[in-house]
This record gives sequence, structure tokens and C-alpha cells, in this order.
Amino acid sequence: MLPVAKVQEVQRLLAETELSYRKIARTAGVSRATVAAIASGKRPDYEARRRERELACQPPGPVVRCPGCGYRVYSPCIACRVRAMREQEREMARAAPPASVPGVTLASASLYASL
Ligand SMILES: [Zn+2]
Repeated sequence: MLPVAKVQEVQRLLAETELSYRKIARTAGVSRATVAAIASGKRPDYEARRRERELACQPPGPVVRCPGCGYRVYSPCIACRVRAMREQEREMARAAPPASVPGVTLASASLYASL
């Protein structure tokens, strides 16, 4: 992967100079194809991807006291949600015959869909 500084150098040379792709490539130490990709915007923005990954890894919110179980959790409390769904599944099993696929219920399927 090309260092961000190198990409920025190529972008600066493209914006501030009248140099050809070939000369910019030689100056920055990258291939002409890389310069062309950066110029056309076809090169993936790896820095943006890295920021997105970091955001995805961060917890969803502040730690709060769960009114259901009393533990300090990231809201909403997954444990309470799973407990509520299991309880719902037990009630559905009591009311209706078992699901055709063992272990897969409407409630667990909707949990997977929401994740
Ligand atoms: Zn809870």
C-alpha cells in the first residue's frame, strides 16, 4: 500500500504543477499508472477506509447502567435483548409447535438480520 504522504505528494504535484504524469511519477517515486489512478480518482482512498474501520470498531455509545440487568453496558444491552428473545421463543414454543428448522426461530433470525 502506498503511504498517505506519497499519495498527498502526487496530489499536490498534480494540482500545483504542469508536470506530465511521467515526470510526477519520477519525482514522487511511484509508477505512472499510480499517478494516473490518483489523478482520475480511481485509486481507492485507503485512508478513508482505515477511518471507517476504526469507526466500526469503536463501541456504539457511552457505557450506561442497564435498567434490565443492572450491569454497566454499551446501550442497548445485548444480554437483556437476547434474554428477552429467548423468553419470547419459549412462549412461542409453548403456544405453537416447534419450528421446522431446529435452533432457527423467528426471533433469532431477526437478531441476525439486525446485526
Ligand atoms: Zn442488561
